[in-house]
Amino acid sequence: MTDTLISADAEQARQTEADKKQQYNFNKLAKRLRHNVGDAINHFNMIEEGDRVMVCLSGGKDSYTMLDILLSLQKSAPINFSIVAVNLDQKQPGFPEHVLPEYLSKIGVEYRIVEEDTYSIVTRVIEPGKTTCSLCSRLRRGILYRVADELGATKIALGHHRDDILATLFLNMFYGGKLKGMPPKLVSDDGKHMVIRPLAYCKEKDIEKYAIAKEFPIIPCNLCGSQPNLQRQVVGDMLRDWDKRFPGRLETMFSATCNVVPSHLNDPKIYDFVGAKADGTPREDGDKAFDKEEFKDPSRISIFATKPLDSGCGGDE
Ligand code: SF4
Repeated sequence: MTDTLISADAEQARQTEADKKQQYNFNKLAKRLRHNVGDAINHFNMIEEGDRVMVCLSGGKDSYTMLDILLSLQKSAPINFSIVAVNLDQKQPGFPEHVLPEYLSKIGVEYRIVEEDTYSIVTRVIEPGKTTCSLCSRLRRGILYRVADELGATKIALGHHRDDILATLFLNMFYGGKLKGMPPKLVSDDGKHMVIRPLAYCKEKDIEKYAIAKEFPIIPCNLCGSQPNLQRQVVGDMLRDWDKRFPGRLETMFSATCNVVPSHLNDPKIYDFVGAKADGTPREDGDKAFDKEEFKDPSRISIFATKPLDSGCGGDE
């Protein structure tokens, strides 16, 4: 009897210890994500006094996390801004319409559900078996711009994270012949809207863990039945493989996107090679004959290391 009591007590103590550790790890994760989002907002001046931020919510882990972190930062931010969550119900078969309204009502955030049957348009226009994402995204973006106007939103927040940004960079390089990523802040092509990506500094792995811990009611993203984009898959697999085999490489690559040296690329549109003159002035971006070929151990480089807030992506030397 005494032995049973002792072992029950020991089990209870073990459980309490495990709960404490789990809570500690979650707090660390939440703090890191809040810092990442706060830094990105500061570095790119994403949100300003009086902004009305339209948070686009798909029902996936990324957009839930973005909304959650923005709501949390809103409470302690030194500026006032409002948030309105928007979901576009594209009428994909099996879309669980009740999930987002229930969740958003529960957390008490202002929201709008927009119903537009883009699914029928896309399936009518695109041949069966072909990837439908590019038309679908274009239609969705147009609708979101219209809704932003209706809601008086001054910023449109999208849930792309660091790994999405890197994947886009490599997709454009490998298949588009362009050095072009997906910036944390950009004016829309019609010049009327400001698109922001508050998760730009967040790792997908962190977001995944956070979404699991917070038990967000995730809506599966394959309801439309679209064929996966093979090129995107190839790039995603490559990045995941690098991340496993070379810890720190993704951080270093992301950091590289924040430290661009136009004079060391080959585009006369962004650097005046034609008009370049050797005028005797020493220059940091000039040719050094030999670039140094030894670099820091990438696993020890952090893009969020020690740079002051106004230094863009923060970073490593
Ligand atoms: S996966 Fe489906 S819903 Fe998402 S962008 Fe592609 S076609 Fe649209």
